[in-house]
Order: sequence, then C-alpha cells, then structure tokens
Amino acid sequence: MSTRVTGRYKASTGRYNAFEAVNGLFDKSADRLNMPEWLREVLKTPFREVTVAVPVRMDSGKIHVYTGYRIQHNGARGPWKGGIRYHPEVDKDEVRALASLMTWKTALLDIPFGGAKGGVACDPMNMSMTELERLTRKFVARIAIVLGPQRDIPAPDMGTDGQVMAWLMDEYSSRRGYSPGVVTGKPITLGGSQGRVTATAYGVVIAADAYYKSRNETISGKTCAIQGFGNVGSYAAHFWHERGGKVIAVTDVKGGVYNEKGLDIPALFTWFNEKRTVAGFPSADVMNNQDLLTLPVDCLIPAAIGDVITPDNCGNIKAPLIIEAANHPTMPEADEELYERGIVVIPDILANAGGVTVSYFEWSQNLTQFYWDEERVNIELERKMRKAYLDVQTMARQEKCSKRTAAFMLALKRVGEAEQQRGN
Ligand code: GLU
Repeated sequence: MSTRVTGRYKASTGRYNAFEAVNGLFDKSADRLNMPEWLREVLKTPFREVTVAVPVRMDSGKIHVYTGYRIQHNGARGPWKGGIRYHPEVDKDEVRALASLMTWKTALLDIPFGGAKGGVACDPMNMSMTELERLTRKFVARIAIVLGPQRDIPAPDMGTDGQVMAWLMDEYSSRRGYSPGVVTGKPITLGGSQGRVTATAYGVVIAADAYYKSRNETISGKTCAIQGFGNVGSYAAHFWHERGGKVIAVTDVKGGVYNEKGLDIPALFTWFNEKRTVAGFPSADVMNNQDLLTLPVDCLIPAAIGDVITPDNCGNIKAPLIIEAANHPTMPEADEELYERGIVVIPDILANAGGVTVSYFEWSQNLTQFYWDEERVNIELERKMRKAYLDVQTMARQEKCSKRTAAFMLALKRVGEAEQQRGN
C-alpha cells in the first residue's frame, strides 16, 4: 500500500497524512516553547518501527498474509505504551501518528510511559474467532522481541478487545514465563483491572464535567450527539445519560438513530447487544454519520475513526463544545477554523486519556500483584483527569491559545526535559 504524500493528502486514499498532521500540531506548540531544532527532530522521529508479515491460515484452509506494525515513538519517560488496532485502513503512516499521540497523551497525564502503537491491516468484523486468534498469536510471535513489561506494553484499540489481549498475554507468557504486565486491557480473571473497560468513556465524561464545572454548569440537561457506538461511544452514552444528560443521536458503521427528546440509553444497549448495531432502534428517527456532526447539540462527541471533522464540514458544526473521544478526529485546518469560531475542542490526548490511565493502574497492579477495587480505580482516574484538565485550562488561558495547543505544550515540555536529562 502506498503512503506517498501528495501535498497534504495521501495519494493512495485521498485522506490526510495523519503523521504529518500530528507533527504540524507538534510544531505549533514547539514554536511557542522556542524548542531548539535538534530536540524537535529527536522528539518527532519514532524510535523503532517494526513491520511484519503475518501469515494466517483462514478457516477455508487458504493462507492469507496480513501486514502488521508496532511503532515505538518515544520512550524517554518510561516503557512504550499504546494500543493495537485491527482495521482495514491500518497503515504505517496512521500507526506512526497514533504512536506519536500516545507519547503526548502519557506525558500530559503524567503517567510513566512513552508512546507506541500497533496494528494489523485486516477486517475483524469479517473474521471468525479462530481466525482472529491465529492472527493475534502469529502477530505477537513476530513482534514479541520488542515487547515486555519493562519495554513495550500493548492494549486494546479499535477492533481489538480483552480477548485479543488475553491471547497476546498467553502467547508472550508461553515464551517468557508468566507476564501479565506485558499487556493491559486484559480480562479481570487474567490480571485485568476493574474499570478498564469503561475507563476511556469515563474519562471523556469527566473531561466534559470538568469543562462545565469551570463554567458553573453540569452535564445534567445537556444534549449530546455521539459518533460511534464501540467501547468508547457506548459507555460515553451510558455515563452522559447517568449524569442526567440527554443523548439525542448515536451512529455506528451500519446506521444511526435520533430522538430530540433523548434516546433511552439502557434500552439502546439491550438493542445493540442483540443486533450489533444501533440502526433500527424503535422510537427514534434515522440518522447518518455526516448529519450527526452538524446537529444543534450542546456537545458533540466523535468516538469512531479519525479525520471526520474536515475543512468541508466544520463550517456547519453547531455544537459549542467538541470532546474528542476518538484519536485525531479533527483535521488541523478544521481545528483552526473551529478555534476562530469560538468552538471549544477538548483534544484527544486529554479527552480519551482515561483508557491509558487505567492501563497504567492495571500495569502497576500486575507488577505488585495487589489488586484494587473499582471505586479506587475510578477515584484515581478522576483525580488524574481533573488535574490534566486544569493544567491544560491554565496553560490555554496563560498562552491565549486552544486547549489542543496548550495540551501539546505541556506534553512536549515534559518529554523534552526527560529526553535532555537522559542525555545521549
Ligand atoms: N488504545 C488506547 C488509546 O488510544 C489505550 C492505550 C493503552 O491503554 O495503552 O489511548
């Protein structure tokens, strides 16, 4: 697959070059920090990029060769950390961008990790469990050499879940001995943490709550629209609803639903568990992924793929607040336009950092073999999220800049200092 860049777009897909976009955000904040050129180069360049062939025997008996990646972006502050994505659009450029975002995310939350990401270009929705297991084991076998509890610790991302992490743990442990700390997002029985499944969404809603709190408001009574009903989107709907907010629209890959009075979220969960889509949910109108973005809601939550808020559609966005539950859902030009229009964007590296934060708690529980209850996990998560939110808010006010630029400034400063202190 070609990743040639034409202008700012990838010729192969016509889509934005994601890594270039993240580096654009990096430079914007590095300029404000007067960061020297050599340090920028060090911080922008991935430490290690591994590409592997992943031959898998399909249920049909035929062998299909998939391509897998593990990219370790920066490890100055601790072991590399970041999810593994199974999605047809996974390519090196995308994984690089996501690995870089992990470096900034872990630094912003001040957890002792670097940033990495992995992925396999595949379509998990159209694979059987046995095919997924064989794919995972083969992929892990080929990247195990760069993983480890003190080296690089994967986690779930789009298209992967606790089961995939369980296979990863098993495959790695069968080579190196029992190693629960090599991966997070595991099932509880295998050393997973209470609260990890809901952590990203919980963090999203805490970020929203922190924003409203700074304005003496609450989520109660506020409307929101959520793009995506996977792990993050579905639990974000749950927590929004639980706090008295109204979720008026939700979409997923197969369709979407809208009800201006607020969707019945517990009933939508029951529907989704049976049908594997929100589409067709009764007592609601039909909604699509594009129209959802321009609904007149109090808060828009993109919780699916990247690059969905574009220079073409951002002019029509009516929500005064966008919380980026997905990674890089907003293209940089669109981001600038939103800022000029006074629309507040809580950036991905802050908004969706709840997942990796509880991954950190899971990893420390694995290392100490002392396990926390859910209440403790959620209290510690909330504390981390609120602290990061306030740090970003203070920086944005001081610098008179967007929350994204402020978040990157804080993260760059921390990673830059660690890099310099470690020396060459
Ligand atoms: N994949 C998640 C993210 O993008 C979680 C990563 C982790 O827990 O290591 O932040």
